[in-house]
Amino acid sequence: MASESMKIPQATAKRLPLYYRFLKNLHASGKQRVSSAELSDAVKVDSATIRRDFSYFGALGKKGYGYNVNYLLSFFRKTLDQDELIKVALIGVGNLGTAFLNYNFLKNNNTKIEVAFDVDEGKVGTHISDVPIFHMNDLEKVIQDQQIQVVILTVPAPAAQSIADRIAQSHVKGILNFTPARLSVPPTIRIHHIDLAVELQSLIYFLKHYPAEND
Ligand code: ATP
Repeated sequence: MASESMKIPQATAKRLPLYYRFLKNLHASGKQRVSSAELSDAVKVDSATIRRDFSYFGALGKKGYGYNVNYLLSFFRKTLDQDELIKVALIGVGNLGTAFLNYNFLKNNNTKIEVAFDVDEGKVGTHISDVPIFHMNDLEKVIQDQQIQVVILTVPAPAAQSIADRIAQSHVKGILNFTPARLSVPPTIRIHHIDLAVELQSLIYFLKHYPAEND
């Protein structure tokens, strides 16, 4: 299964969750078929890219018929491991961290923040949205006991690298880094950086220099 998904280009793999979410909604509303044009309109990916993406997993849409929603859904469920619950830990229960705990990705039924960590004694021992907050002293033990696979980092930037070093010693497979710090991790860990300030600035840059055409 892992080797099968490895054949999919990374850019395609990144779009799978987007397709999956839309198809789930279509399925829930009772739709059996979807055309690449409809998909394109909904997920804002051009239809040639969608057709190429879908060809990687053997979904060949027929002209005037479209794609079979059930087939695609079961493929995505397998590929995205939607049947397996991925346990997530959050480190840094500040403003952003608290928002994630309240949100807790409940719409994605395969991911759940199980535990959170902080150094603030006022937060340790409390719960947010039923997620217990532990002290950083217990990091290694708790992530081992809870079989955490992914860590979300929402600590201040200067604290991030030393925490990443500690995580690298565990069996955690991935880090979603919301701090502006660029972190080094061993090749055994995958890290995705999401710098919201940079994203916002880049949007504003594009608005200024590449204004949307009026249609
Ligand atoms: P707040 O207003 O609650 O401080 P914030 O998002 O502005 O929110 P930050 O200074 O970014 O605050 O810190 C985010 C959280 O990370 C805080 O709850 C803080 O206690 C925690 N934190 C700071 N250093 C560490 C660390 N080394 N390990 C774990 N958590 C930490």
